[in-house]
Amino acid sequence: MGTIAENVRSILSGIPENVDVVAVAKGHTAPEIREAVEAGIRCIGENYLQEARTVIPEVGSRVKWHFTGHVQKNKVKLIVPLFDLIQTLDSYELAVMIDEHARKHGKLMPVLVEVNSGKEPQKSGVMPRDVAALIEKIHALEHISVQGLMTMGPFLDDPEKLRPYFRATKTLFDEIAGMVIPGVEMRHLSMGMSDSYRIAIEEGATMVRIGTKLFGPRGYPR
Ligand SMILES: *Cc1c(COP(=O)(O)O)cnc(C)c1O
Repeated sequence: MGTIAENVRSILSGIPENVDVVAVAKGHTAPEIREAVEAGIRCIGENYLQEARTVIPEVGSRVKWHFTGHVQKNKVKLIVPLFDLIQTLDSYELAVMIDEHARKHGKLMPVLVEVNSGKEPQKSGVMPRDVAALIEKIHALEHISVQGLMTMGPFLDDPEKLRPYFRATKTLFDEIAGMVIPGVEMRHLSMGMSDSYRIAIEEGATMVRIGTKLFGPRGYPR
């Protein structure tokens, strides 16, 4: 691995221009994030509110901040004003809470719906067959704007094995885009991480979330 700046340049030069790279910075410091931004990163992902509250004021708002962790209901109040996009919406109940806090801040909160593409009962995310109905229901909420889908896929030893899950999520994305639900703009399909982003892009990702390959190893597991 090179420096953070070298990693950023090598990743950005190796992917199509229309694919957004979200640098997932959990476990990394503000100076590390700043190095990535100076090398061309425009979106930063944070998984933990406490960490985000430290680094966001230090790095500033010249970049977009995405919440990429599991949203705990008691943290919604603080997540909504701090972030530009929440990638992990996974229930109607949560949507109602996000909408309520966004209204208080006079904000339209962009979200992605997290899809449990592996259909694993213990995992977060909405089961694929429930996604369209959830989005139709959310569209009535005035302060939340659904802008696409996000998926992790199962943890597998070989990233190539994720391809069918990415493909199925892309099919679902196209189906929902084809439904033309008012107020719903299917513009982001967020899938692929350090080991799998190339495969995800081949399968139609418009946004990839990369941590380790940009910043190096973290002090704790994902
Ligand atoms: C940590 C994390 C990533 C980045 O993972 P790497 O394997 O380090 O690239 C991407 N997406 C989510 C939701 C994460 O929590």
